Amino acid sequence: MAKKYRCGTCKTTSGWLDSDEFKTHRKTHRDRFHGGDAPDDEESLQGTAPMFSNGVGAREAALILGILIVLSYMWEAKG
Ligand SMILES: [Zn+2]
Repeated sequence: MAKKYRCGTCKTTSGWLDSDEFKTHRKTHRDRFHGGDAPDDEESLQGTAPMFSNGVGAREAALILGILIVLSYMWEAKG
């Protein structure tokens, strides 16, 4: 599940991040802008990253396409 990090104090929102990227981004933001403390109104916005809008979406699409190609080869081999 992709997430966006939002800091209401700074009024900034990140791009789509995976779980590890989110944690890193949040820590970096807290360290850089809030002296390592958690701002009161930070949020994680969950959703699905739009396809092809960033590296994650494109990578997932390529994976799905690869699986479909393999399946179609297997299907043809059977017939
Ligand atoms: Zn902030």
